[in-house]
Amino acid sequence: MKIKRQKQAKKTISFYKYSFNLREPFQILIDGTFCQAALKNKIQIKEQLPKYLMGEVQLCTTTCAMKELECLGKELYGAKIILQKYQTRRCAHTSPVPAAECLLSMLGGQNPHHYFIATQDRTLTTALKNIPGVPLLYIILNTIVLDKPSQRSLDYVQEVQMGELVSSGQQQKICSLKEEQGIQQKDKERRGRKRKRKQISPNPLSCLKKKKRKGVPTPPLRKAEGEQPAKRRRSRHKRPAHVSCPPEASDGQP
Ligand SMILES: [Zn+2]
Repeated sequence: MKIKRQKQAKKTISFYKYSFNLREPFQILIDGTFCQAALKNKIQIKEQLPKYLMGEVQLCTTTCAMKELECLGKELYGAKIILQKYQTRRCAHTSPVPAAECLLSMLGGQNPHHYFIATQDRTLTTALKNIPGVPLLYIILNTIVLDKPSQRSLDYVQEVQMGELVSSGQQQKICSLKEEQGIQQKDKERRGRKRKRKQISPNPLSCLKKKKRKGVPTPPLRKAEGEQPAKRRRSRHKRPAHVSCPPEASDGQP
């Protein structure tokens, strides 16, 4: 189980290193809930986290997270003692806000300072999954677990990769291809129009020629010539009738 867990962590860390440029020492932003869980499960964060993440870590928190623990009283005294040992990072809040809200504000839109977030707060973890490139650490079954990259992170990486591919070479190629296609379509349209004009132009010319021919007496002659062979055919049919008649007439005359 330990080997599997370590392998998964290694895979996840390399994803964040290559896709979001996370570098050592890893900045681990911790809240009171994580410290409390570590205390309950007898986990020494400072010792175990570098081993698990296979690199140097810098444990830190915010003044808002500290003040929240102070307000919650004696039950969280141990967690407060642990959290006090870590670096306190400046947040934008003049008056303290809930730790979850404060840690979210530290990330901004795209986690530019490459913070890991270590928390047991479910509202915070669900909010984190909407920000790309934020590794999440939590404690479950007496062990620290680095959560798998969120769908938002995976989608973001895919979008960036797609963007790079399109911007670098393919976008220009696509644009040039589109232009070529556009030109080809225009050429086809132009060619089509030219062909239509060619079809239109010969018609009036041919009409004019026909008018000239009509003026000349030859066309009616042709028509008469066309009629004459039909008459000849009729005469051919009549001839056998005439041939049959003469023998009858010759029989009657004598
Ligand atoms: Zn704050």
